[in-house]
Amino acid sequence: MFPFHGIDFLEIDGLLTEDEKLVRRTVREFVSGEVLPHIEEWSRAGRFPQHLIQPMSEMGFYGASLQGYGCAGMSNVQYGLMMQELERGDSSLRSFVSVQGSLVMYPIHAYGSEDQKRRWLPDLQQGKAVGCFGLTEPDFGSNPGGMRTRAAKDGGAWVLNGEKAWITSGSIADVALVWAQTEDGIRGFLVEKGTPGFSAKDIKGKFSLRASVTSTLSLQDVRVPAGNMLPNASGLKGPLSCLTQARYGIGWGALGAAMACYNEALEYAKSRTQFDNRPIASHQLIQEKLADMITETTKAQLLALQVGRLKDQGRADFAHVSMLKRNNVKIALDVARSARDILGANGISDEYPVFRHMCNLESVSTYEGTHNIHTLIIGERVTGIQAYK
Ligand SMILES: Cc1cc2nc3c(=O)[nH]c(=O)nc-3n(C[C@H](O)[C@H](O)[C@H](O)COP(=O)(O)OP(=O)(O)OC[C@H]3O[C@@H](n4cnc5c(N)ncnc54)[C@H](O)[C@@H]3O)c2cc1C
Repeated sequence: MFPFHGIDFLEIDGLLTEDEKLVRRTVREFVSGEVLPHIEEWSRAGRFPQHLIQPMSEMGFYGASLQGYGCAGMSNVQYGLMMQELERGDSSLRSFVSVQGSLVMYPIHAYGSEDQKRRWLPDLQQGKAVGCFGLTEPDFGSNPGGMRTRAAKDGGAWVLNGEKAWITSGSIADVALVWAQTEDGIRGFLVEKGTPGFSAKDIKGKFSLRASVTSTLSLQDVRVPAGNMLPNASGLKGPLSCLTQARYGIGWGALGAAMACYNEALEYAKSRTQFDNRPIASHQLIQEKLADMITETTKAQLLALQVGRLKDQGRADFAHVSMLKRNNVKIALDVARSARDILGANGISDEYPVFRHMCNLESVSTYEGTHNIHTLIIGERVTGIQAYK
């Protein structure tokens, strides 16, 4: 792996404040010191680095843009730069932080009772508890509104039955936010690890996000107290608003993966020689690839920054975030595939980070709304016509 000194073709750093650059530098150093020396080993072993949960909490990563309960209260741009640097390390770490903060802490913060907030937010922020978000089911992914998981009221309790699939951090979570159909529509329930009838099983054989835990959750007559339902989230807009938070971080995170791949391809092309001992970077076909990669990465940086600035002013909405997620993950995948090509045979080896990022980005393209679904969200925004069905 070649040294990384940041990617800034268009003086975009000049658009950032000193505080924003400080967050980026701090996370970059953490990733260079604690993640990059070991990530290939964790990925090969299919192991999530649980020992980093605590240090990441001490750096304020969890729920970083939330206020109160010990959260760091970062701006959305600071938060985005943090996600960018984390994913330069690996999508698995960014995914863990996204789920913990945007998909578990955010809904408790936005829709929970004061008791729920006090019970969970400090522990989740301090990494004493891990959370997961159970929306997807084996038969319902892009269309979560069709979910079969049910919650029925029984005296002072709710009884949950169903199955959730592809749940990040599922088997290591102390609390699962499970979305279920009730007589009054979709509601969110906090289900603690160890509750009778509740179990998690890891999905094996992944070629992507290998350093992340991905599980199925099974709920069979799981009784939770009435106070475990989020009181202020009702209908599909509850989980969808959480996804908007997480997708925002993904839009920035994908940039980090793109930057890592571009940097690797550029340095490799300058040092690798073929034909008359000339660097492959001297060939026009390689330069065209590099020109495309840096152009798309630079455009993606500007998109992320503008959505971040709008979000900080309370003016970003879910369609803006869809454009960010859709575009930046797509260009990151394109950059990773070009980088893999430039590295030749070395491009498929885990001595270089490119193939790992490329495989990770396949998941990132699918989760949190697939590329197609974000196309339809933007399409609906500009035409006023829904085209999902
Ligand atoms: C590693 C990983 C981690 C994940 N973590 C979580 C998690 O923590 N919590 C959680 O709840 N879920 C999680 N997911 C699930 C993820 O959100 C879903 O996989 C995603 O929503 C897509 O659903 P699906 O896989 O069922 O695909 P499907 O919905 O079956 O889609 C398959 C294909 O059909 C296309 N398609 C579907 N509908 C349409 C349409 N109307 N028009 C055009 N094309 C369409 C899709 O774009 C896709 O290309 C994770 C997934 C992965 C891979």
